[in-house]
Amino acid sequence: MLKVDIHTHSIASGHGTTDRLMDMADEAVSRGLKILGVSEHGPRTLGSASLSYFMGLKQLPRSKGSLIIRYGAECNILDVNGSLDLPDHVLSRLDYVIASIHPQNIRSLCEADALRAYEGAMKNPYVKFIGHPDDERYPVNYEVFILKCMENECVPELNEVSLAPGSYRKGGLKNAREMLKYCLKYSYPILVSSDSHGRKNIGNTPCCDELLKELAFPENLIINNLI
Ligand SMILES: [Zn+2]
Ligand SMILES: [Zn+2]
Repeated sequence: MLKVDIHTHSIASGHGTTDRLMDMADEAVSRGLKILGVSEHGPRTLGSASLSYFMGLKQLPRSKGSLIIRYGAECNILDVNGSLDLPDHVLSRLDYVIASIHPQNIRSLCEADALRAYEGAMKNPYVKFIGHPDDERYPVNYEVFILKCMENECVPELNEVSLAPGSYRKGGLKNAREMLKYCLKYSYPILVSSDSHGRKNIGNTPCCDELLKELAFPENLIINNLI
């Protein structure tokens, strides 16, 4: 069970759950998390939160009991330049930003363009994490990808939904294994996330745990342990 889970979604993301923010906070408290980060999808995900939602996050509670609550966004990468679906003046108000490619916005990319899109997003100073860079629709050379992460001080994510059997993201396990190989080679950290939609899977990452164990991935390269 993670103590820090910062890639989660509430009903404000527009799909996958009817749980609201405080339902998720209650669950995180009961599971003994230290930090819950809620990262709703950016506005280019159908039915997701609007610009004004992200503008208003500063007003929301930042703790519940001993639980720290933080507010980010999972922005959509929109093109090969790595453009995002929230402007910088909104990103600057958030606690953190995850940038991901989703098929709603980009159906597929060749290897060169996928790397270009990820690198473009990494160049945005507010982007600190690359979400689920394990989808075979956006293939990358993982050694080059990790070197780009290092150069731009972005942390790649190990995503539970990608690794789960039958995931709609194909190639997740194989690609994550390859990515972690280069994190190990260069001693570069990863973020482990449930990507829970609603309360159900908050902090719960059994497939990630299994892979990390298989690779004897060191605890001090899991950034959740360092926050
Ligand atoms: Zn995503
Ligand atoms: Zn997500």
